[in-house]
Amino acid sequence: MNSLDAEKFYGKTTLAKLEIVEKKVNSKQQWVKVSRRMPSCIMGPPEFWMEFCKQAEALRMAGEKSTDFQMLSTFVYQRDNGYRKFVVAHPERYWWHYEHRPAEERCSYEIIPECHPCRLYLDLEYSIELNSKSDGPSMTDTIINVFSSYLLAYWHIPCNKYNVVNLDSSTDEKFSRHLIFNVKNVAFKDNYHVGRLVKSVCQDILDYVSLDVKSHDILCNFEKAKLERLIVETKKGKGLFVDTAVYTKNRHFRIYKSTKWGKKSNLIISDDSKYIPTILSKDKELNIFLDSLITYFFAKKDLMLLECAENGALVTKPFKREIERNRCFQHDYSYSSHSILDKYISNLIYPGKVRACKYRRSSNLSVYQTSGYRYCENIGRCHKSNNVFWVVDLKNKTMYQKCQDQDCFGFKPKRRRLPEEICFQIDEDDDILLRCALVTEDIAQKAGSF
Ligand SMILES: [Zn+2]
Repeated sequence: MNSLDAEKFYGKTTLAKLEIVEKKVNSKQQWVKVSRRMPSCIMGPPEFWMEFCKQAEALRMAGEKSTDFQMLSTFVYQRDNGYRKFVVAHPERYWWHYEHRPAEERCSYEIIPECHPCRLYLDLEYSIELNSKSDGPSMTDTIINVFSSYLLAYWHIPCNKYNVVNLDSSTDEKFSRHLIFNVKNVAFKDNYHVGRLVKSVCQDILDYVSLDVKSHDILCNFEKAKLERLIVETKKGKGLFVDTAVYTKNRHFRIYKSTKWGKKSNLIISDDSKYIPTILSKDKELNIFLDSLITYFFAKKDLMLLECAENGALVTKPFKREIERNRCFQHDYSYSSHSILDKYISNLIYPGKVRACKYRRSSNLSVYQTSGYRYCENIGRCHKSNNVFWVVDLKNKTMYQKCQDQDCFGFKPKRRRLPEEICFQIDEDDDILLRCALVTEDIAQKAGSF
C-alpha cells in the first residue's frame, strides 16, 4: 500500500494518529536497555530491571528488592526534554546498557534516596565570563584538601585527593566539577548530614576569610590567599564556588559520562584527577562509574556511618563492632563478616536461602544453615525434608557440604577450594576489620576532645 492509498484508506487524521502511536512505540524501544544482552555468571549482578513513571514507586521497589549482598540503585533517565523514566537495577547492569548509548543521549542521574547512607559529594561551579582569572583546578585542589582535613579532624577518617573521584563537565561558559569522596567502608548517615557539614565548612571559610577571624583549628593550616580564591563572582554577588543547595530530599545527581539534556557536557574524569579506583577489575570505566556513585555500596553492613547532627554533634557508628561482639557469643546471624562469601554461598544455593550463619571462632569455620535447599552431594539428589548446610573453612579457604539426615551420618564431604577472588577479599576484610577496631579505639580515647 503506497502513501496515497493509505491516506485514502485511513483518512488524514487517523493516519496522523497512527504515526504518533508508532513514534511512541519506537521511543519505548530506545530506552537505556536495548537488545544488548549481559552474560550471566554466578558472581554477577542480579538480573532485576524495572522501569517506572513515578519516582516514589521506583524508590519503594529498590528498597524492597535490595538485600544484604546485592544493592539496587534508582536512576532517572531523560529521553526528551521533560520526559523522564525511573529505572531500578543493579548499577553494574545499568552501566552495561547505559554506557553504549551515544554521548548526547546519556542523560542519567542517580537518585540519592532520603535517609539513605551516602558519600560526601560536592558540586563546584562558577561562570568563566565573570571569573576569567580564576584557576578552577587549583581551587578544586584546595577544596579537596579542606574537606579532607575536616574528615580527619572531626571523625579521624584519613582521606586525600587519591580518594576523590574528580569529574569535570566544564564548558566555555562554566567551570563545573563533581567531587565524590570515596573512602572504603565510610559513609554519611544520609545527605542531610552531608549538607550540614558542607554548609558549615563553607561558612567557616567565609568567616575566616571575610571577618578576619584570627584562629581556626583546621583552616589555619591553609594559606589565607588560597582560601580567598575560592570566592567567586556570581550573578547574585560574591560567594564560594561550592553549590550548597544539592543536599535536598531524593536529590538527582548526574552520573559519570552523562550530560544535561542538549548540552553536550558529559562528565568525564578531570585532567588533574588523582583518584585511584578502589575496585581493580578489568573494566576501568565500570570501576570509575561504581566508585563515583553516591549511594551504592558493595556491602552496607560494613559501613562506618558518620553523622553531623543539627546541634553540631559529630558521631561515628561502626556497625561492625556490634556484629563482632555478637559473633563472640556465637549467636546465629544470617550473614558473616565477609559479604563476598555470603553472596557467593547465597548464589550457590539459590533459590534456596541462607537461614543463619554461625561462626566458630575456635576452629575458624563459618557454617551456613539453609532453607529451601535440599540437594545432598552424598546421595546425589534432594532430601525430602532435611536441609543441608555448607561449611567454610576460613583458615584453609575451603568449603564443603554437610547434611543433617541420619542416612548421611559419617558422610565424608568433598572439600573444594574457594574462588581466588573470595580468598583475596577475606584477607582484605580481616585487614580492614583490624584497622576499624583500631580507629574505633582511637575515637573512643579522643572523644573528649570534641
Ligand atoms: Zn544427605
